Amino acid sequence: AEFKEADLHEGIDNTLMILQHRFQAQNHQKEIQVIKEYGNLPLVECYAGQLNQVFMNLIANAIDALEEIEVTNNFQVPIIWIHTQLTNENKVLISIRDNGVGIPENIRSKLFNPFFTTKAVGKGTGLGLSISYQIVVEKHRGKLWCDSILGQGTKFVIEIPLKPSL
Ligand code: ADP
Ligand code: MG
Repeated sequence: AEFKEADLHEGIDNTLMILQHRFQAQNHQKEIQVIKEYGNLPLVECYAGQLNQVFMNLIANAIDALEEIEVTNNFQVPIIWIHTQLTNENKVLISIRDNGVGIPENIRSKLFNPFFTTKAVGKGTGLGLSISYQIVVEKHRGKLWCDSILGQGTKFVIEIPLKPSL
């Protein structure tokens, strides 16, 4: 994989396109709304293909969390917010937020462990977040963390330094 300048919005948009079929209304599920709040990002020196894998993992997890919502909740509009910004410290922040089921307090410390999953056999490998962590933290000298409120939703934040000295 090559380390070079890339447009991260392009990577996110491509990921959304690949996952598009999963946003459509399913049997007992409303159509998922995607709200993009893109800041003014410069090109970022990165392993673009690997970061795309991170976007894929995090957005797919958000979709899963929205699909888990009780079908009896008539008022819930399932939403994924994708926010990007460049900070004053020349760091790129990308957050992916959902109003899905949320994450119970007692499993938060295990989320990034390889093979940790709460999903049914065949639905989740439990590798998405551990691979994402490796890509963001080890390959890009960045950070990856999560905020969640059980029953309300979850936000994962990726932080990448604009010019990581590797
Ligand atoms: P997998 O998706 O295969 O289960 P991941 O490593 O991607 O593996 O995620 C691990 C676990 O973290 C998931 O099984 C789920 O319990 C939890 N999780 C991750 N993202 C979310 C989210 N957006 N909302 C709720 N739970 C989440
Ligand atoms: Mg996953």
